Amino acid sequence: MSLRQISAALRRRNSLILLLCLVAFYLIWFQLAGVRLLEGSGHPHSDQWEERVAKELYAMRLQASEMRRQLTRLGSAPAHWRHSDLPTIFVVTPTHAIPTQKADLVRLSNTLLHVPNLHWLVVEDADHKSELVSRLLRRSGLVYTHLSVATPPELKLQPKDPRWKKPRGVLQRNAALSWLRENLEIVDANGVVYFADDDNTYSLELFTEMRDIQSVGVWPVGLVGGVMVERPLVDNGRVTGWLTPWRPDRAFATDMAGFAVNVRLVLNHPTASFSIESQRGFLETDLLTQMGVTLDDLEVKADLCTKVLVWHTQTAKADLKIEKIMEQKGKPATNVGIEV
Ligand code: UDP
Ligand code: MN
Repeated sequence: MSLRQISAALRRRNSLILLLCLVAFYLIWFQLAGVRLLEGSGHPHSDQWEERVAKELYAMRLQASEMRRQLTRLGSAPAHWRHSDLPTIFVVTPTHAIPTQKADLVRLSNTLLHVPNLHWLVVEDADHKSELVSRLLRRSGLVYTHLSVATPPELKLQPKDPRWKKPRGVLQRNAALSWLRENLEIVDANGVVYFADDDNTYSLELFTEMRDIQSVGVWPVGLVGGVMVERPLVDNGRVTGWLTPWRPDRAFATDMAGFAVNVRLVLNHPTASFSIESQRGFLETDLLTQMGVTLDDLEVKADLCTKVLVWHTQTAKADLKIEKIMEQKGKPATNVGIEV
């Protein structure tokens, strides 16, 4: 090929592609030559080079495992889980160490995993956060905050006491309220606070219903107070009273599971809290009263309070009679070395 022919070819439309191919070819050749050089045992820098690569690989592996850990915490939830434009639902759950605790928390966490933009505030009734709950939360795939505060012994239910004798979960719910006040900025706080005990049964629809609450939302609660259902009485879309056999004259005769409040209400009333001094059955009423809520503020949810979306189920006390007998006989406990 003469020089004139080559320059003519360069002028053609494909000439640029030809040039690029040549450059690519040269680059590949250079790389291969470099690798061959380093592979040769005589190369003075090959050991250092291998060491560097090994170090880089190790660092990358560490990064990958950290990313996997983060993904398990944040991303293992279903794909629809993260919607930053939705108000957050802060679910407050007091919990205490009894044989059925893990079963209750697993069941509840499985429910909550279906709910987008949810932040679970789990407060242990204990001096310290337990390994059991810490591990469960770490592996749950939920966004959570783990707190603990112990109920003083004199306020605790004794084994033979009926459940209604002392308020349960009071200090724990208050710890969660304090956390919200300390950690949320009032200007951009957008969400709802719901007090969800660990042994109730929650329909997923309930969370959809509560998400847009502006003040206080209310709805029926099934299997509570000795009756099939307790519920707000609704007339023309407004709450006019309460359908409950016990003290329907309470200002807010609802169970803990029957209402949720906008988080602004919590932040705007920094001293509003549950009180161990509250008369039995008045925890809910006393809290909402401190927040300046009136019947007119109540937002009627669950199809004008005609649907039951939450049930005040109670986990049966674990039957451990045989375990006790074994213990008396000096036999090892069945749960040695295994978390139940
Ligand atoms: N709870 C607690 N400490 C206790 C008893 C109960 O933190 O000493 C928690 C419990 O785990 C639950 C909530 O408080 O989330 C309400 O307790 P429970 O379900 O026993 O009450 P009830 O079903 O009678 O309302
Ligand atoms: Mn309960």
